[in-house]
Amino acid sequence: MVLGFAMRSKAVVGNWKLNGSLAGNETLLRALLREIPRDTDVACAVCVPSPYLAQVQGLLTGSGIGWGAQDVSRHDQGAYTGEASARMAAEFGCRYAIVGHSERRTLFGDTDAIVAEKYARARAAKLTPIFCVGETLEERERGDTEKVLARQVDALLERCGVSGLDGGIVAYEPVWAIGTGRTATSAQAQEAHAFIRGRIAQKDRGIAEKLPTLYGGSVKSSNAAELFAMPDVDGGLVGGASLVAEDFVGIWRAARDARKGK
Ligand code: PEP
Repeated sequence: MVLGFAMRSKAVVGNWKLNGSLAGNETLLRALLREIPRDTDVACAVCVPSPYLAQVQGLLTGSGIGWGAQDVSRHDQGAYTGEASARMAAEFGCRYAIVGHSERRTLFGDTDAIVAEKYARARAAKLTPIFCVGETLEERERGDTEKVLARQVDALLERCGVSGLDGGIVAYEPVWAIGTGRTATSAQAQEAHAFIRGRIAQKDRGIAEKLPTLYGGSVKSSNAAELFAMPDVDGGLVGGASLVAEDFVGIWRAARDARKGK
């Protein structure tokens, strides 16, 4: 199925994971602020550890750089030690919340159903959820990539309905490419993105056409242009390279340039 892409918004989002310090964050963010313009049609954002949300809010308010949480609880409040809710993240001006990152799925037991609950919490708090999906190397080698993506997407559709994806973002992140230095080829990324969009289009073509789908997995400034040139790749979710200002800005510029070409 060939769907249009001209109207989709584009974004480059950094995922700092469990990295940062007050001093290091400030240096990094000030370097980004020097390069990312206030008015840009390619969104730029960082998703940071929750203890740093107040600092990031203080430094980025009024800038062209947004911020978000790396996860949210599936609960709103109560006796859930260690959790932080979407509502709390929203109080710190977050625009985004990543849900379903493969590290949450594999290391912390987030099932498809839990991820869908978290997505719903993020929506209810008026955050833009970044819903991560992706197959492991073993699943790809078994030829199960589409089966895995379909299962992950369908769990969300079942919980939130297709309208739940209106205003959300999907990130295709093949697990074998995350933090490994191994990137999906642009053809592999395009194939997976088109499959995800097509799956959602079976429910609502208009929502699927508008849905930004980001690629994540060892994106660097050297490979970003090729990935972002793909018709269904609307930007990137960036781990390691988002910790180095020059690299992250280079990736954002590649997305901005790709947008002009599309
Ligand atoms: C990620 O963790 O979302 C990610 C894509 O990491 P990296 O860019 O380091 O592969």
